[in-house]
Amino acid sequence: GQAQLYLDNAPSEVKELAKTFDMMLSRLSQSWEQERQFVSNVSHELRTPLTIVHGYLQSVLRRQNNLTPTQQEALETAALEAERTIRLLQHLLDLARADSGYLHLHKEPCVLNDLVAEVVSMAKKYSGRTIKIESTTQSIEVKIDYNRLKQVLLNLIDNAVKYSEADTPIILKLNQQGQEAIIQVCDQGCGIPLQEQSRIFERFYRVDEARDRSTGGYGLGLSIVKTFVEGMGGTVTVRSRMDQGSVFTITLPACSLLE
Ligand code: ADP
Repeated sequence: GQAQLYLDNAPSEVKELAKTFDMMLSRLSQSWEQERQFVSNVSHELRTPLTIVHGYLQSVLRRQNNLTPTQQEALETAALEAERTIRLLQHLLDLARADSGYLHLHKEPCVLNDLVAEVVSMAKKYSGRTIKIESTTQSIEVKIDYNRLKQVLLNLIDNAVKYSEADTPIILKLNQQGQEAIIQVCDQGCGIPLQEQSRIFERFYRVDEARDRSTGGYGLGLSIVKTFVEGMGGTVTVRSRMDQGSVFTITLPACSLLE
């Protein structure tokens, strides 16, 4: 309103300038859109063949029992790398979708305790770690995208596994405060320096390449967590102390299944 009024009475140079800015802005957003589209297409195109490669590797590993240890190891490494890349592509796809507003969350009512139990039993199997659930409420009801929330918790547990010693436990705490469901993922690992804590949710951000390289991530896990959780109307925060451990807290709006 007021800006337009000002522009209407502005000298022609200012009007020209405003027009130029408008044009620049629309070109910029066009090229952003193209970049998003590009990332999304490439991710999609790569994911399909890689999934096939991964499937074949898995089936050879399952069926061939006459492999030499060297062959076995080579195939296992190939399968792991394929898996890691598939996950990266999935993350890039999800972020590109979220950016363009095409990330559709299918929210449905569910019991949080069941979802957490399912995720924990999965994570225990593939990590071989001690993962405990501490819950103050029998059944906390939330309306969320089941698979996306599973992904969120798996990302957080993956990190807890990666950034703590194998003999330390990982604890998932569940409780409800009023209209809020709270999930905490706690580890007793290396911790995150205070000055980095606000940046770890950024895309491709990793605290320390030297420290983090061996854990083989891309710095996308937490930006996925944030995107999904906020998409479900929740929040995610971190509290951490060096050499003591980290606690990631997710809050989600609780609901009643009877509603
Ligand atoms: P990455 O793939 O590098 O793990 P994330 O986005 O999941 O990417 O995490 C970003 C960075 O935050 C990590 O590189 C790591 O430095 C730090 N970080 C995340 N979770 C933990 C944790 N539980 N303990 C210590 N550091 C963590």
